[in-house]
Amino acid sequence: MHQQKPETSDNNQNRIIVRLDGHAYYYPVCDVLRLFTGEIPREEEEQVVCAAGSLASSDLFSSEKALVLVSRVSNERVETVFRNKEQISVDRKDLTLPLNREVKRQLYFLLSRITGKTFPWGSLTGIRPTLVAREVESEDELVQNYGVRKDKAHLAFLTKEREDLVLDASSPDALHIYIGIPFCPSRCSYCSFISQEAPKKREMLPSYVDAVLREMDLVLPKIGYKIESLYIGGGTPTVLPEVLFEKFIKGVFSHPELSEVKEVCVEAGRPDTITEKKLQVLRDNGVSRICINPQTLCDATLERVGRKHSAADFVSAFRMAKKMGFTIINTDLIAGLPGETASEFRSSLCEIISLSPENITVHALSKKRRSSMKREEVVRSEEEDLRDVGSMLSFASEKLLSEGYVPYYMYKQKDTIRGHENIGYCREGTECIYNVAMMSDMRSVLSFGAGGMSKRIFPDNSASEDAMSHVRIERCPCIKEPSQYIRDVEIMAERKICFFSEE
Ligand code: SF4
Repeated sequence: MHQQKPETSDNNQNRIIVRLDGHAYYYPVCDVLRLFTGEIPREEEEQVVCAAGSLASSDLFSSEKALVLVSRVSNERVETVFRNKEQISVDRKDLTLPLNREVKRQLYFLLSRITGKTFPWGSLTGIRPTLVAREVESEDELVQNYGVRKDKAHLAFLTKEREDLVLDASSPDALHIYIGIPFCPSRCSYCSFISQEAPKKREMLPSYVDAVLREMDLVLPKIGYKIESLYIGGGTPTVLPEVLFEKFIKGVFSHPELSEVKEVCVEAGRPDTITEKKLQVLRDNGVSRICINPQTLCDATLERVGRKHSAADFVSAFRMAKKMGFTIINTDLIAGLPGETASEFRSSLCEIISLSPENITVHALSKKRRSSMKREEVVRSEEEDLRDVGSMLSFASEKLLSEGYVPYYMYKQKDTIRGHENIGYCREGTECIYNVAMMSDMRSVLSFGAGGMSKRIFPDNSASEDAMSHVRIERCPCIKEPSQYIRDVEIMAERKICFFSEE
């Protein structure tokens, strides 16, 4: 069935090859390989090839350059085989998982057996843990069927319960709005967003704000949805100069379609962009929920990753916001920042808890291609990760749960080292509706601004053997480059009007 590929240019490198026989689940196979190797797998005809990465020094490669596995699906069986002697298989009639997930499960457990490595979320890669938690009956099922670690299975269940409470209180037909301001005071070394440095784009900022307001003017009156939440993110929206920021916020709230939203959240992510005047503008327009995100309270790390503020700047911005009446403040932390130790991470978290913000979001570092982290930093942080990131995240969940915070939304990114998770924790009753709507993929989102992704959620009555959920999602991307967005904003508006009008 499968064709053997001739050895190619990288034949000196240790590799893992998974031959696909009788199926074409390239992406699920890539997801699992990426987990074990930390490398980006390559699809070839009927096989996936991946540099061995962190497995390269393993004894498995002492006698051969390539580790070859076969993942086979026939009418009778699903099986994964290594060197004709190690294998995992199941009869089709006994299948309990969708086929694509069974392929992943087998590959994960077989690679785990032959390499001795396990990962906290097992074969749950490329899929939201809460979605799977919603399908199974117990935490044990996540452990048995997917290889998820017990504490993570518990977190997935806790998060799913809280996510469901938020979704139950939200109309399935309502729309959630996102507005993106893709500019920041400087670019963090780990940044994977499209954000640009505002000081270098000063002249563009007023035209960008005009374009976003124009897009809203064109689109909002044409779509007949009830709007439930509004999230203004980026980038860093508060990077706009005070006068422009006021014009922007007033312009946003001048739209009558937004007059009944249940929730408005504004990212004031970088403390060095926050001024009393900007916070007053938000308060004057009824905003009481913001994000101030230090990522770490270790000054040396802040400097290392190119953020131009100190821990003290964060604390004073936080206190000012509290004093001015912001009732819900979220703070983000990242585990695994380059050079940061577990003890520095723990101190940051404890210091943040002592300020008692209503929401604390804990991210695991994700290293996407757009980030400017150098290869040496990436390698260094991978090694650190092996020792530390898992323990940082475990410390965070134990500490936050013991301090009365509950997890309410969770997502994983494919480039996050070792498949770690990002979790939003909150004091009960302070959940951010937008975050749940967005991350659960259970509600439609209309995005304004460059790089935003709009999506519509439809019930799916034709769920197939491979279906991951009972909803169908359609997406409508927006131009990423701000200058092109400014030029083509009317085309973008028309595209979104059509997207939200189609049956
Ligand atoms: S604040 Fe966020 S969006 Fe801005 S550069 Fe840093 S990581 Fe990127």
